[in-house]
Amino acid sequence: MGQSTVTKFAEELGLPVDLLIEQLKSAGVNKSVAEDSLSEIDKSALLEYLRKEHGQTQVPKNKITLTHKQNKEIKKTDSTGRARTIQVEVRKKRVLVRREDGQPVDTPIVESKPVETVAKTQSKTHVLGEDQLSIREDEAKRHAALAAVQAEDVRKKQEVVAKVNEAPAAKLSEGTLHRPASKAGVKVETKEKQVDKSEKDWSDREFKKRTLKGRGDSSASSGWRSPKSRSKSREENEESTFVAPTELIIRDIHVPETISVADLAHKMSVKATEVIKVLMNMGMMVTINQILDQDTGMIVVGEMGHTPVAALDDDPDALIEQDSSIEAILETRPPVVTVMGHVDHGKTSLLDYIRTTRVASGEAGGITQHIGAYHVETPRGMVTFLDTPGHEAFTAMRARGAKATDIVILVVAADDGVMPQTIEAIHHAKAANVPLVVAINKIDKPDASPERVKMELVAQEVVPEDFGGDTMFVEVSAKSGQGIDKLLESVLLQAEVLELKAPKNTPAKGIVIEGRLDKGRGPVATVLIQSGTLKRGDTLLAGSAFGRIRAMLDETGKEIKEAGPSMPVEVLGLADVPNAGEEVVVLNDERKAREIALFRQGKFRDVKLAKQQAAKLANIFDQMAEGNVKVLPLIIKSDVQGSCEALSTSLQKLSTDEVKVNVIHIGVGAVTESDVNLASASKAILIAFNVRAEAGARKLIDSLEVDVHYYSIIYEAVDQVKAALGGLLSPEQKESIIGMVEIREVFKISKIGSIAGCYVQDGVIRRSSMVRILRDNVVIHSGELDSLKRFKDDVKEVKNNFECGLSIKNFNEIEVGDMLEVFEVVEIARKL
Ligand code: GDP
Repeated sequence: MGQSTVTKFAEELGLPVDLLIEQLKSAGVNKSVAEDSLSEIDKSALLEYLRKEHGQTQVPKNKITLTHKQNKEIKKTDSTGRARTIQVEVRKKRVLVRREDGQPVDTPIVESKPVETVAKTQSKTHVLGEDQLSIREDEAKRHAALAAVQAEDVRKKQEVVAKVNEAPAAKLSEGTLHRPASKAGVKVETKEKQVDKSEKDWSDREFKKRTLKGRGDSSASSGWRSPKSRSKSREENEESTFVAPTELIIRDIHVPETISVADLAHKMSVKATEVIKVLMNMGMMVTINQILDQDTGMIVVGEMGHTPVAALDDDPDALIEQDSSIEAILETRPPVVTVMGHVDHGKTSLLDYIRTTRVASGEAGGITQHIGAYHVETPRGMVTFLDTPGHEAFTAMRARGAKATDIVILVVAADDGVMPQTIEAIHHAKAANVPLVVAINKIDKPDASPERVKMELVAQEVVPEDFGGDTMFVEVSAKSGQGIDKLLESVLLQAEVLELKAPKNTPAKGIVIEGRLDKGRGPVATVLIQSGTLKRGDTLLAGSAFGRIRAMLDETGKEIKEAGPSMPVEVLGLADVPNAGEEVVVLNDERKAREIALFRQGKFRDVKLAKQQAAKLANIFDQMAEGNVKVLPLIIKSDVQGSCEALSTSLQKLSTDEVKVNVIHIGVGAVTESDVNLASASKAILIAFNVRAEAGARKLIDSLEVDVHYYSIIYEAVDQVKAALGGLLSPEQKESIIGMVEIREVFKISKIGSIAGCYVQDGVIRRSSMVRILRDNVVIHSGELDSLKRFKDDVKEVKNNFECGLSIKNFNEIEVGDMLEVFEVVEIARKL
């Protein structure tokens, strides 16, 4: 608080000095000379006196606020860099505080009360001169209002003002928005700028940023907050713009058979990149649109902390539900029989015999017609035979969940007995829970020994009835036809035991036995009807193929109009070739059939794509895990689906730990250009079974140099692939010992090392040989020769009973009496 003089104070108040002195005197302040100093206490005393004079004894606070204003122009550069001239009205306010009562001097805060006081004072203090002591009520009120909200800011500013301002009294400067600042205020601002520039800039930027925020931005609400809480609200803004990581909500994620990365991410409410990241960590490089198979999808879901659920969403297969309005009347149906057994035991012969002798017209003759099945009439009833002998076809169908066979005829040659494939067949039948009827074949042969076969089968837990078991044994000859009738009878007997029944009066259901593309007739499928009656003109859905039956043929090529349970028929009119083992249903709503077929096709394509992708990766992983695995990629084309499946399974079975057969594509029909391209791209070998390449494909085969092999016998194909795999096997390395050498003397030569004087006891020693040093028959070193000499000359080899000198690479601890075992490593090509 500075000191003032009477003159100055008079000037400030705009009063004559004399009058002031007089008033001071009355107030009890003795000041006679104009130059006398005037303290704040004196001023307060004067004020107190004046108040008393006017009967104003109770003052809430002993303060007087003195204000005067000054107009100024200042030049400023705004944020855009433009210079501006600002008119500044500087108002100086001085608050006088009385001190005599011992009250502490308040910090000159502008409050409404003192302002009011001031206002009242103003009306009474006209003695001091109305204008001179300009205290305006309205102004004061405004300031008071402002002050109320800016009290905090003001206080801070005052501290700065106190330092900066030279005015003796506590000066208060403040500004409004339209009258921004007093001089002091400007200074304050500059000062503030210096102090808080960075913070201000920062907050400005922050503000701009905030204003840029879009809808839903929580910071937008800050506009409604009082400026008092600006700094606070800024903190809040910072808080609100930062979204704290929320806890993972574990959900059940339904993963359909195929799903794209983007869809999967969407289901988990995460960004696709998150899913890609997880897959990358799993070693899969994927793109956002890539289709994942169900297994992969489920692993990803699990990895990301959710619960995977295998879903079959949107599957219109549910629509297949049959019309239950027709009450199914169950009737006995003929048995469906598959013939199994070891190679060359006579399966084909047996089937052929039955067909040629039993099939009604006998038109088929000896030619194995690839309808895949036929039925025979016997006095006791009808039997249907599946004409694809071999285990592969049976297993392939079973693998698809289709159970076509009721009874298995196990053919065992009486002269050969139980063989590996016989045992395999028993296992297959048992696994499928299908009863066996054993046909001991080639009974006409002189060396036939059915009793031995029986004994051997008992060992496999197939016990004949006369041994107390439940399996029927029939001795037959596929050559002479002996016992065939009995065999058929036994089969029918077994069928009776099984009580096979199916309705006839319902729309047909069945299974695809074979599918092929016929040049003239288009897609042709052999269907085994399992229940109901199939009629010409029915709309059929077979796997992912559908169509209206244009024509229906039996196994002899005769056109038929309808077929009942257990009947094999050839149907024409499907849009595509169905796969063997696929389910067949009659849907009399063509639109529905089309919809389901298309859905299945799409699903099949997606599943195939996803599986191919997974397979590729699986291969890579396998190779990585197993080191140097050689792979033989194959593409198989054949005339009928059954052969394809059989070839594919047999060839894949050739895989060993070191060499893998990888069937990358199988298909029915001629070798096409796309097959050749695929083979070329994947460096695969093309196997064509009973089919040939199309003209275009033939040219491509030549130009792309694709390896194509044509076969008509499965075993030939298998044998050749086996040989090819043998070529892929890395040759076996074998050691062969070629000589024994005795060390008789050792010369230690500095810088060169040990030279041994030796005698070749046995065989030969060559310069290129490897040696093993034996001391008391214990191997102490194994390595290469460094030199081999005879007298002083280097030689290539030394034969037995000759002496020689030699040194061994990186080994000098050779001693007299050591023996050298001389060996060479030979590579032997391996076979599977
Ligand atoms: P699959 O490989 O089991 O189909 O056997 P095949 O039907 O091709 O028959 C193999 C060989 O056994 C053929 O040379 C047939 O002639 C012969 N064979 C089949 N059944 C009999 C038979 O009952 N008696 C005699 N002697 N030979 C038979």
